[in-house]
Amino acid sequence: MSELHKFLFDGLPVRGMIVRLTDAWQEILARRASNTATGAYPPPVAELLGEMTAAATLMQSNIKFNGALILQIFGDGPVKVAVAEAKPDLSLRATAKVIGELPADAHLPDMVNVNNKGRCAITLDPKDKLPGATPYQGVVPLFGDGGEKLGKLSDVLQHYMLQSEQLDTTLVLAADDKVAAGLLIQRLPVKGEGNLEGTSGTSDKDHDQANEDQIGRNEDYNRISILASSLTRDELLTLDVETILRRLFWEEKLLRFEPQAGLQGPHFACTCGRERVAQMIRGLGAEEAESILAERGDIEVGCDFCGKQYRFDAVDAAQLFTPLGDQIPGSPVVQ
Ligand SMILES: [Zn+2]
Repeated sequence: MSELHKFLFDGLPVRGMIVRLTDAWQEILARRASNTATGAYPPPVAELLGEMTAAATLMQSNIKFNGALILQIFGDGPVKVAVAEAKPDLSLRATAKVIGELPADAHLPDMVNVNNKGRCAITLDPKDKLPGATPYQGVVPLFGDGGEKLGKLSDVLQHYMLQSEQLDTTLVLAADDKVAAGLLIQRLPVKGEGNLEGTSGTSDKDHDQANEDQIGRNEDYNRISILASSLTRDELLTLDVETILRRLFWEEKLLRFEPQAGLQGPHFACTCGRERVAQMIRGLGAEEAESILAERGDIEVGCDFCGKQYRFDAVDAAQLFTPLGDQIPGSPVVQ
């Protein structure tokens, strides 16, 4: 069962979270494997996508944002794009587009940062968006301050969190074909609540300055961060949450929250629907739609996240380009 655990270090300005995705992650992989057009992910891609899914869950829970948190990597290598999305109810979905062959032992740069042009984007898409409002998006490169290619997704995201929230964050991520898991440790802001939307406009300068002065200097955070970083990939994948927390933090006093598991826990869900696909076909324009129909007989669009197929035959497609009111009586309405 997939689960999310949150905890505080009693009396210290440090909080933590650990996520362990099992059934939710296996469902994402199984849906991809059963897609005859793509087949299963190559193992290195599955590992990257699992880490992204665990990270998206942690980041969504960390900021308690009322909307979708979408973590994307736009790669310049064989993995063109990888996406993981987490919603406030901990519903998750993820997908990746892979073109060409990958070495079996491919690392992050081999997949998405061959020419150091890969990018990672974090988008916050509000649930109740005002018309015309654009979601917040932060973008970071996949290289470090010296231009060196970063080898791990956790390095990229730690960099992002430091830039956007101005808070020290330690992330440990791991995934295989059964489990996607992550540990997040974060220094709490000096005052106020950490905010992924950055410092522009809303927060006061003194607060930022006080926070910046604290970055990398809080002894409690540094000690706990070193403990967290000692967690190995194997331990994260194979040990249960209680064992991990006991092994890492047996000398610290943890305040635990009720774990989120089962119906309240992380789970797979896709929000695709026929109307969204219809909108996409409308976006292609009548001419393009007709040429696809002429060539194939119908327009079939598969959801990259869940694999569901949406089919529009000539009559369905004609309806898409017919103004409401002029539609043929008795013909099916596109939902
Ligand atoms: Zn779907």
